[in-house]
This record gives sequence, C-alpha cells and structure tokens, in this order.
Amino acid sequence: MHFNLETIVAWAKRRGFAYPGSDIYGGLANAWDLGPYGAQLHKHIVDAWWRYFIQERDDMVGLDAAILMNPRVWEASGHIASFSDPLVDCKKCKARERADKLIEDNGGDTPEARTFEEQYRYLVEHHVTCPECGASDWTEPKHFNLMFKTQQGVIDGEGKDIYLRPETAQGIFVNFKNILDTTRVRIPFGIGQIGKSFRNEITPGNFMFRVREFEQMEIEYFVENDITVGLQWLQTWKEISEQWRIEQIGIKKEKLRFREHDPKELAFYSKGTWDVEYEFPRGWGELQGIAYRTDYDLKQHQEFSGKDLQYTDPMTGKRYLPHCIEPSWGLTRAILTAMIDAYDEEEYLNQKGEKETRVVARFHPNIAPVKYAILPLVKKDEVQVQLGKELFHKLSKLYSCEYDDNGAIGKRYRRQDEIWTPFCITIDQQSVEEYHATPESVTVTVRERDSMEQKRVLISDLFLSLGYL
Ligand code: ATP
Repeated sequence: MHFNLETIVAWAKRRGFAYPGSDIYGGLANAWDLGPYGAQLHKHIVDAWWRYFIQERDDMVGLDAAILMNPRVWEASGHIASFSDPLVDCKKCKARERADKLIEDNGGDTPEARTFEEQYRYLVEHHVTCPECGASDWTEPKHFNLMFKTQQGVIDGEGKDIYLRPETAQGIFVNFKNILDTTRVRIPFGIGQIGKSFRNEITPGNFMFRVREFEQMEIEYFVENDITVGLQWLQTWKEISEQWRIEQIGIKKEKLRFREHDPKELAFYSKGTWDVEYEFPRGWGELQGIAYRTDYDLKQHQEFSGKDLQYTDPMTGKRYLPHCIEPSWGLTRAILTAMIDAYDEEEYLNQKGEKETRVVARFHPNIAPVKYAILPLVKKDEVQVQLGKELFHKLSKLYSCEYDDNGAIGKRYRRQDEIWTPFCITIDQQSVEEYHATPESVTVTVRERDSMEQKRVLISDLFLSLGYL
C-alpha cells in the first residue's frame, strides 16, 4: 500500500517519533526533534550500525571527531571552493530554487553534469515553472555555498571564521595519521564515525529527507593504491551495505535500488560511485552513497598540512598513500526510511465485530523502539505489580523496555503492536499463585510479535530464553 508523506508525518508526531522543532514557538522551518520513540529508534539504528561495522569487525576502528575544525581542512577538501549548489531566483515571486533539482523534476537527466549556462538554457527552453507561483522567469544560476559559517572567539566581528562541518568524513581523513601512529591497524582497514553535519540547503523539505542539521554514519575504508584492488573493495562494500540495510534494519529490498554515477556526473578523482536509493513517497531519493575516492583526500591533506600521510607496508616497507572507499549513510534519512518502510495500516474486527483500520509500524526487531513490554494483567494486584516492576528493572539494564499497567490488556497489546514491540511479557494470576507457593518458580507469559506465539517461561529462565536484541 502507498502512504503519502503527510500521513507518516502526522503519525510520527502522534506516536512520539518526531515533533516539529521549537514547536511551541511556531516551529523552525525544516527542523525536527525526535520524540521518545524516535530517540529510541535513532539509538537502535546507531547501535545496529556500530555493532555491525565497527564492533564485530577486526578491520575497523571507530572515531568521534569534533564538529568544529581548522578552516584549512575545508580548503584542502575543496568545500570552500566548490561545495555549492546552483541557485536560481524566480524573478516574479523571489522564490529561491536549485536549478539542478528543477531540471531533474522536469525530465532532465544528469543536471550536475551541465554548466550553469546549459542549466539556464534548459530552464528557458523547457519553460520550467516556479513551484511557488507558476511563472517561468528565472535569474541565471549562481553558486551558493552550503556551509554554515560562524565565528570562533569572544569579541563580535573579531573572531575567526569557522564552519560547522558539512560532512563527517573529513574528521576521519585528518585523523588518519593519528590512528596509524596509535593503533595496530594495517591496510586494508577502515575508520567509521557517526555524527552531526550541517548544510545550508536551498530547498530543504520532505520531512527529514533534506534538513539543514542532520546526522551521518560514514566509513573510510583504506586499501592498497591499486585500482583493481580498489574496485573489488567497492563491490564488496556495496554488498556489505546491502546486507546491513536488509538484514540488520529490515528495509524492504524491493524499495531499494543502486544507481551508478555516469561518467559526466562522477567526481574527477573517483573511479566509481554508486548511490543507494529508496523509493520515498515522493519518488526515489538517495539514502547512501558509496564512492571509490582513490587517494584524493589524503593527497589533498598531505599537501595542505605539510604532514607525511603515507602508510608503510610492514612486510615490504613500501610507502604509499592508500586509496579509499567511502560508504556514507545518512542517519537522519535512515530514521525516516525506517519509519516509512515500517508504517502500515490493516483492517481488524473490533470487540463489536465491526471492521476498523489500525496503524502498525512493522519495525525489524533490531530497531523497534521498545524491545520488551512488561504488562501486569491486573493493576490492583500488588504482587503482579511488584513482579512486573522487578522484571522491568532487571530487563531494562540491557534492553529498552516499557512498563504498562494501564487499561485493558487488549488495548495494551494494541499499543505495543502499533510500534511492533517484539516481545510482550504478561504477569497474571498464575504468576501470583506460583509466587505464593515458591517465589523461585514464578512463570510469565511471553508473546512473540512476529509469530504471535505465546509461551510460559520461568522468570529465572527469561534471560536465557529471550532472543538477542
Ligand atoms: P543529495 O544529493 O540528496 O543532496 P548528497 O549526494 O549531497 O545528497 P552526500 O554528500 O553523499 O549527499 O552525503 C551522504 C549522505 O548524507 C546522503 O546519502 C544522505 O543520506 C545524507 N544527507 C546529505 N544531505 C542531507 C540533508 N540535507 N539532510 C539529510 N540527510 C542528508
């Protein structure tokens, strides 16, 4: 079933996944705050990523670099000179748009590969209209740098210009030497990090798809300086990334596709770049980029910093600048994708036997906001409540849990089903009787969401019998 974005936005707010930023002040355009369930979803995606790509691999290390960096970094990386989008103004209503996006939305391919003159000609010849007012009267494109500039220092106007990082990747390149010098990594190896990035986007929107403050999960994987080897690793990273998306966070395979950058679109230093696209409610959009960047970044930083960034092969003594593959995920877009992908509506018969529609968000167990719901059947029963609270305190040391003793049990199951909580644990009269007989032999009912299977389990065996989440 197809659901439009407005439906997802409304549900996300209603169920505490995402609220408009600064809501009580009327909001701040295109800023979103993650609510309690959204924050849990975020954490679980981060955990699933870190565990899979850093913790469980012996060829990867993690990093957490600062957002504010020496401005020379951005000169070396090329961001000051060329991290810009082509901006056009509608002469009639003054709306600001991205020329490349207008071309793309009006049937033109590879707009990035066209010069500004060619882009302008396309807008004129195809009578591309302004999405705001419908006029077709554009200024010529001009560069708009997407970096947020700010000042470091205490005196207004005398501070030094610095930038909020527009990507996390450069923090990895500038720490390449530190990591070589202080750890035992050997080529091939990778460095991964997760963090905030900022881009002063001209046309933010589509909920969290394009925002000005977002998070990325990036890896630079360093390999030998040999193009055949590099291309093999590019292929490997395409496959590993696909496995993670589908197996670890459960994104539907049929909603994903790879798109290769054609030679005109490819950065001059890249030997191959792929976008992973997801079918969002408004069409296909990039979720992840996987780029073979050769030794471009290390070479630039070596030149601009004057520091030797070469790697010495411990076996042969050969010194060289490694090539690198960059699998770069948008974490904010991954959260959006997970919500869209999980959202579903189904018909059911209510207690009166009438058909009703309910929302279910079928999250993969790895990323479901709540892993265990603990539900004492009768709120007034002191022993049930006591057992439930004890269980909550034990389980919540390891997993995200929710304790809920409010309302009819059917309704409470529904609340958990709506967010696809993998396990619901109920404490009932039998548990109470067992408690009075021998406290060590208390059993509870575990209901597994996917199979709907219910089994009675000894509380003492609970940790052994639950799946790893
Ligand atoms: P786009 O073409 O959509 O502007 P990009 O090619 O500039 O994206 P990259 O520089 O490759 O994006 O960044 C890597 C990832 O960071 C993207 O795949 C995307 O998931 C995420 N990302 C980039 N810009 C934004 C943004 N403004 N809001 C949310 N996520 C973003």
